[in-house]
Amino acid sequence: MKIQKIKNRSILFTNSLPAGWDLNVQLIMGDRYNYIIDTGLGSLSVAPIKEYIKHDNKPIIVINTHHHWDHIWGNSSLRDCMIISHKLCREMIESNWEEMMQKYNQYLDGEAEMLLPNMTFEKELYFPEDKIRIMYTPGHTIDSISVLDEVENVLNAADNIGDTIGELIPSLGCEKDEYINTLLKYRELDFDTCVSGHNIVLEKQVIEKILSML
Ligand SMILES: [Zn+2]
Repeated sequence: MKIQKIKNRSILFTNSLPAGWDLNVQLIMGDRYNYIIDTGLGSLSVAPIKEYIKHDNKPIIVINTHHHWDHIWGNSSLRDCMIISHKLCREMIESNWEEMMQKYNQYLDGEAEMLLPNMTFEKELYFPEDKIRIMYTPGHTIDSISVLDEVENVLNAADNIGDTIGELIPSLGCEKDEYINTLLKYRELDFDTCVSGHNIVLEKQVIEKILSML
């Protein structure tokens, strides 16, 4: 597990299990809450984050960027927390859980039980105490959301950025136009650093690059 401080209050935990396939979980340590963006492959994906904040007793807010297995299997290690997702994400976790568990079982890292988001939204959520904005941004999937830290200007675009530098365009779960609209929305936001589900830490210009490739 690689632990990388990307800004003052933003830490990126990167798991390379299996080798060559990175998976990022972002922690934002706000004034009021600690935010954990995605929960990885199970209890062992979450353990290093819990360890990192073990002396910090602020309440934790968990955010699931979309319903895919590699972003939600650690949810059950964060019981008693607010777990936020898009409304569709909650439905899709519930209907796809068994199939994802069977199909990708070899990647399970520790334990995982289905723990559904307990706070869902459709367009946007905002936490003014920490200036954290959570937005509906369909693209990679129809339930994809993104998180903007307005204090440190970091966008977590999750899997709306492809997995590697050589593959910046992700697989799409919606119409291409809808994905382009999401990219145009990103363009309007104020950020300089872009975190995603599997890629390295990028700069804002990656958005222009993807737009020019489409
Ligand atoms: Zn995904």
